[in-house]
Amino acid sequence: MKQGLLIIISGPSGAGKGTIYNAVLERMPNIKKSISVTTRSPRPHEQEGVHYYFKTVEQYQQMIADGEFLETASVYSNHYGTPKAAVYETLKKGNDVMFEIDINGARQIKKKYANCVSIYIMTPTFEILEQRLRDRNTETEDSIKRRLGSAKSELSQYSLFDYIVFNDDVETSVKKVINIIEAEKCRIKNN
Ligand code: 5GP
Repeated sequence: MKQGLLIIISGPSGAGKGTIYNAVLERMPNIKKSISVTTRSPRPHEQEGVHYYFKTVEQYQQMIADGEFLETASVYSNHYGTPKAAVYETLKKGNDVMFEIDINGARQIKKKYANCVSIYIMTPTFEILEQRLRDRNTETEDSIKRRLGSAKSELSQYSLFDYIVFNDDVETSVKKVINIIEAEKCRIKNN
């Protein structure tokens, strides 16, 4: 039986990757969502086990010591990790699993799995990214500068990813991501 596909969605904050990720999951209900562990506090709308598993730094470190993660990364001084067990179970059943993770996590998963497709979501220009971050009204000036800096450094490593989608219009981008996934599932090279 063909093993499931690992689908990585990555990109800077403000590029719209979360919106695209959720829309693709909604339209492709057979794809399982990978739920990460984080040490950051939940945001008002976030639910335990739906958006993240929220842990203390001590619990997170214990999970690392116990080898429970497929990959880990620290992003803006918070820790994140993908629990292995759920991913293994999904793949074993031949189902696909989708991750919304940063570039370091993407690098770690790509090293471990050949049957993996990675998609970087970016705004058409940096000016638009900056504008979107400002429009959110949730970031301080420092945080906007830091996020733009990380986006520039990430984009210089874009060749790590298999695809880049410039998110000008969400609906078009969602369709592009769905088309990429459908094409990857028909790919002969990884069989
Ligand atoms: P947020 O705290 O805004 O939900 O996520 C911040 C960043 O962490 C985003 O770029 C998100 O993609 C990334 N992230 C979330 N979960 C994980 C994870 O399990 N592993 C890695 N490597 N990055 C993650």
